[in-house]
Amino acid sequence: MAGLGKTYVIAFAGLKPGQHEFEFEADNKFFAFFNDPEISRGSIQVNVSLFRQATMMVLNFRLKGIFDITCDRCATGAQMALAGEHQLVVKLSEPDGSEDDEVIALPLTESEIDLAPFILEYIKLSLPARKVPCEVSGDLSLCDQEVIEKLNLLKSTASEGSDDRMSRLKNIKWS
Ligand SMILES: [Zn+2]
Repeated sequence: MAGLGKTYVIAFAGLKPGQHEFEFEADNKFFAFFNDPEISRGSIQVNVSLFRQATMMVLNFRLKGIFDITCDRCATGAQMALAGEHQLVVKLSEPDGSEDDEVIALPLTESEIDLAPFILEYIKLSLPARKVPCEVSGDLSLCDQEVIEKLNLLKSTASEGSDDRMSRLKNIKWS
């Protein structure tokens, strides 16, 4: 994979049968390469425990780290913790149609596997569904109320569709 080189590649052909441990880090360079809208910066430690068998490999991913987010409501930046576990089964055979999200097939001619896209996918699966860092619990919110009021005003002005929309927008003072 150009850009990331062999950083996230495991050359499994030379691995003896049994358990093997690998450590990776998904860092800012990793996220910049994928340029994914859901996550752009972070530092996620990825431990991969690989169990090698003759015709199959089982990879257990453990993810732990922090990532930068922007509040959905008030656009305040913050860092959040992320943790997750995912399993990938790699059959060393031609695909036979029984593959899915958790089971893939690699032809026996392959000697290595690039885990970068899997790591990105597992990080995204571990992201909190609703990204509101300001929200402490329940209705208690630490959101920037000033920004929210401005956004609400923009929304209501836009939905009215009145002719003085632009003049109202001009009156909003953005700090
Ligand atoms: Zn907020």
